[in-house]
Amino acid sequence: VKTESRKASTKPKVVILGAGFGGLTLARKLSDRAQVTVIDKHNYQTFLPLLYQVASAGLAADHIAHPIRGALRGLGVEFRMASPIAIDTQRGTVKLDSSELIEYDHLVVALGSETTDFGIPGVAENALGMKSVHEALRIRGEVMRHFEDLCRIDDGSTLEIVIVGGGPTGVEMAGALAELARGPLNRDHENAAKRIKISLIEAGERLLPSFHPKLSARTKSDLERLGVKVLVDTKVAHVKSDEILLADSTTIPAQVTIWAAGVRGESTIEKLRLPIEAGRVKTSPTLQVEGFENIWAIGDVAGVIGEDGRRLPMVAPVAMQQARFLAKQLFTNSLKRFKYRDKGSMATIGRHKAVVEAKNLRIAGAIAWFAWLWLHLFYLLGGRNKVGTMADWTWNYLTFDRGNRHIMDGADL
Ligand SMILES: Cc1cc2nc3c(=O)[nH]c(=O)nc-3n(C[C@H](O)[C@H](O)[C@H](O)COP(=O)(O)OP(=O)(O)OC[C@H]3O[C@@H](n4cnc5c(N)ncnc54)[C@H](O)[C@@H]3O)c2cc1C
Repeated sequence: VKTESRKASTKPKVVILGAGFGGLTLARKLSDRAQVTVIDKHNYQTFLPLLYQVASAGLAADHIAHPIRGALRGLGVEFRMASPIAIDTQRGTVKLDSSELIEYDHLVVALGSETTDFGIPGVAENALGMKSVHEALRIRGEVMRHFEDLCRIDDGSTLEIVIVGGGPTGVEMAGALAELARGPLNRDHENAAKRIKISLIEAGERLLPSFHPKLSARTKSDLERLGVKVLVDTKVAHVKSDEILLADSTTIPAQVTIWAAGVRGESTIEKLRLPIEAGRVKTSPTLQVEGFENIWAIGDVAGVIGEDGRRLPMVAPVAMQQARFLAKQLFTNSLKRFKYRDKGSMATIGRHKAVVEAKNLRIAGAIAWFAWLWLHLFYLLGGRNKVGTMADWTWNYLTFDRGNRHIMDGADL
């Protein structure tokens, strides 16, 4: 079935696969210069940096999901809720799982990333990922279901929650769960809450390895003050249903394992037969996919080598800067090389606890925390989501409570 809806136009046809940070930014920038079609398997964009707050009952799930059609309203951009299954580079078409064929003059791959288990057995079966709203609701559901068990069975047993991966996602998740247990759950049922134990495992020698060692040390001590057991230099060998086997052959109990240890390019790129290196699409600094003049890749999925010889980090600013760059690059005759401007990094640990690093500036504590809140609110899409998030945060801040403790993952249906 060839699409009927794209009206005759002299503007070039640009098809964007993925409506995340990169894809949506690009679609909005290109809408006046091209016939743009955006394809995504969801009808909403997920604000992944706040996913951990949904998982730890701090935010309602719909506050971090923004309808794609709403984001593109009035721009003349077509949207298809579908997945690409094949690219015909000769004819310039993409086939969707709805059987629709979409023609392109330029194709942009912006499919993001997915959790990788690095081949460690048991991760897929026994660990909970952190890449979608559904997975965040699953984590919240699992934690709250186990909490209900602790409330019911007063036999001294504990709930061991282990987060694997000491990058920003793992740190934020560990801190938020610790605060959930110490605050709202403690007030719900003190005896059950004090039996919740949280550990954070990192294979490298320190948490937040991309930050300055002083901020890593501060993060570790802040987490420990919240009651989190931090294990660095600790490699996971096997994740089982109720324990984790470590590389040194010791085991640690884990009724809930949360996997925040790494991501790779979205695996649909294999089906699309794009060139792949180190789990990402082989992409030149001009953002062209290797071997193609009119196929481009941006964001997490694109393995662009930066000026330091390493692949660019999988973070939202890279995806958005590449989208803005590509909006200019697509219709120019002299191709330029993309340069990432790293404006800094931040991670939050808990109330009044965060770390921020930008060039030579390094701050930790309450100022960093308020900066983190403001920046995330600024980048969150949609007025309704901003207002909802502000309402949840204000409520949480003033009452020390978390109103989103519902078990809503559908596992009990
Ligand atoms: C838990 C978590 C926390 C994070 N925190 C931060 C942070 O604090 N700061 C930061 O800078 N970065 C953070 N990141 C990374 C950041 O979210 C990514 O770098 C960014 O989303 C990349 O943008 P993208 O456009 O490449 O991909 P995405 O924003 O992930 O968008 C990809 C889109 O492709 C769609 N898609 C995927 N597969 C298919 C398919 N087969 N068919 C159709 N559509 C498909 C998805 O539905 C999605 O809408 C975090 C990531 C995670 C997982």
